[in-house]
Amino acid sequence: KTRSLLFHFTFDEMLSFLHKAAVASTFIGIACTGSNVEYKLKPSHKIAEELKQLSRQYPHLVALSTAQEVFNLPTVGTQNDCTFDSDVEGCRNYFLTLFDSKAHPTESESYRAIPEVFLSGALHGNERVGPTAVLETAKLLLEAAECESLPRFITPPSPDTEKGVEWQLQAQEAASCRQEFLDRGISDHQRKWLARLVSTRRIVVSPMTNALGYDRNQREEDGIDCNRDFPFDVTSERLCMRTICGRTVNELFRQHLFQMSLTFHGGTEVVGYEWGAYPYLHNLSPDDKAQVDISSIYSRFAGSFQGTKPYPTGTMNDLVYAVHGGMEDWAYAGSWIPDKVPICKPKTYGGYSETKSVYNDSMLRAFNMLIETSNQKIPQTHLGTSQDLLDDTSSTHNGHVARNIRLALMAIELVEPYISIWGVDYIPLENDIVPMTTHTSRASKRSKVMQIPGDRQEITVSWFVGGGFDVASTNILYAKWDDVPAVIDGSSQPSTANMGTAFKTTRASHGPTRWKEGWQFDETKKHEGWNSDLTGYPMFNATIDLTEFRPGDQIAVFVTAQVDQGWTTQSNGVSPKGIGPMSHIVNARTNSEWRHESAGKVIQGRKDWFSIPLTLLISDEEKIADLSDRFIIHDFESSSEFDNEEETTRESSKSISQDEARGSGSFSMTFLIAISLLCAVILFGFAYVYKTVGRRKGRERVSDNEDMFAQQFEFDEELELHEMD
Ligand SMILES: [Zn+2]
Repeated sequence: KTRSLLFHFTFDEMLSFLHKAAVASTFIGIACTGSNVEYKLKPSHKIAEELKQLSRQYPHLVALSTAQEVFNLPTVGTQNDCTFDSDVEGCRNYFLTLFDSKAHPTESESYRAIPEVFLSGALHGNERVGPTAVLETAKLLLEAAECESLPRFITPPSPDTEKGVEWQLQAQEAASCRQEFLDRGISDHQRKWLARLVSTRRIVVSPMTNALGYDRNQREEDGIDCNRDFPFDVTSERLCMRTICGRTVNELFRQHLFQMSLTFHGGTEVVGYEWGAYPYLHNLSPDDKAQVDISSIYSRFAGSFQGTKPYPTGTMNDLVYAVHGGMEDWAYAGSWIPDKVPICKPKTYGGYSETKSVYNDSMLRAFNMLIETSNQKIPQTHLGTSQDLLDDTSSTHNGHVARNIRLALMAIELVEPYISIWGVDYIPLENDIVPMTTHTSRASKRSKVMQIPGDRQEITVSWFVGGGFDVASTNILYAKWDDVPAVIDGSSQPSTANMGTAFKTTRASHGPTRWKEGWQFDETKKHEGWNSDLTGYPMFNATIDLTEFRPGDQIAVFVTAQVDQGWTTQSNGVSPKGIGPMSHIVNARTNSEWRHESAGKVIQGRKDWFSIPLTLLISDEEKIADLSDRFIIHDFESSSEFDNEEETTRESSKSISQDEARGSGSFSMTFLIAISLLCAVILFGFAYVYKTVGRRKGRERVSDNEDMFAQQFEFDEELELHEMD
């Protein structure tokens, strides 16, 4: 039978068949490996192992460190603790730093200004949802950022070179990881959102902050409660900074300017905020408005599931109880209520330098919310799965781990407002933020580029706003790139004063972001061209008058927005009174006078937030087209980019036609049977067919791009040749 099958086919048919078989086996492979994970609480050795694995797997996006190595703190415990680290006695305190070091090299302004988030998995070692939740959060973010960064070349290099082969491999990898995200219910847009979060924030993740307690499954660290060990409203200067988990957190806050932080606990279900200390038993904080908004979206985005309700939100004093020496109020107020902050003189571990509990005006102004994850400290069931993770806030897929991954993502989202330009005339831009790309020398000029027909009188630009709740105003600014002041590089936030006089403005209306409570999509405003997975987003639109521009003009379009101006309002019962918001996160978006620097990091307050610019290229072409410097191959075999079959000279009659390639999804049962009979042939065919198809397409892409850029787009030589990786 095999023989007759083989002879029956012509060579082209045979190739086509092999190709289908190759595609089929790829799908079968994906189905077998499975991308839907049922979450389980991980023991300490497993967490340590996975942390090491992440740092090996994503070296440009994450660094793994320990408090021992970076801060010279001792390990705690004996040779019977944390035995997975057999080279030391006791436990190390591991932490991950997620940071896009390619986008923000150490000498760049954005290295200092990027907003910072801290996630602590557990200060109490027997409250065990947090460590797994923050580890899974880090893993998801890194997977998305890595996937979104592929392929890592501006234009496909010649397929005959080593780089060309690498590009082909990266393009295939990109197609397959994007498909895996879709399979687990994470849309293209959601994947880009996750990648944006990684590339625009610095996120420090400490899954097992109390490493010894977590390893021993005990609340305290060697008998001392970590969450009574912070120098805020303690009863004695001897009673703070006694623990290594406390000192680890202390050192991290001294080294960063965290604006947002989460501290995971368990034993009840609460999202709690200030105050949580005795002096403020019945008071609200001067940042109460923002704390109410943020805790409320934490609760809603986390959601509920069988046997649980959405997290109640409120002050820790009201919903939990007041404590001395809690991490929460220390992280929020340690820099601006100095009379509650003693100089710690602990006797443990040979003492601790007194300078370590002297804080400058900037270190301790974070929103550090208390997350009590679950009534059971170690829940065994209903942990949730990775399926539909970002949408499924109220069903069987949700669970204790799943909902706290979402909650952690929300903290990362809200740390800073941003504007994402979505598209032009309802045609979407392919890329949002591509991780691991350099942002120097106005690289932004070509990271979002739309070709606009020269006879257009006006076009509509659409965008959405994130990182906040209320958009007070949002505008388009546009000018020819030639007239944009040199100081505007398009990647760091400009000051309004530096924008010069060349820009014209179109105002759009104000409105909510998608995180605003009660916001609902208005179906009547849905435009036909809108991508279906964006119907959950309030979109802003404004038109640009093009009559003064000519073919060849390159126009820079910035969108600005003012966000959450209502956060400065003071509630009744605030204490201390009359001082206004004290946190970085509120002031950073409401107060342009706000400036704090510490440990090489800076927070500059601003009212106007700027998007990464969109370049409009006025051309003689008839169609609007995305010319951004990296086209993404959604589906390596059927990308619409390659549709203009007539214009392409076929290189080889043996190549598979576009139609055949596109039809490959509908292989029949016959082919499935044939697969099992022709295993060896398929393996050969797989390699051969991918190579042939890939090479031909690589050529087309090179010539397409060369034409576009050579004829219509004159960039600096340096930029043109610049390679991303
Ligand atoms: Zn606790």
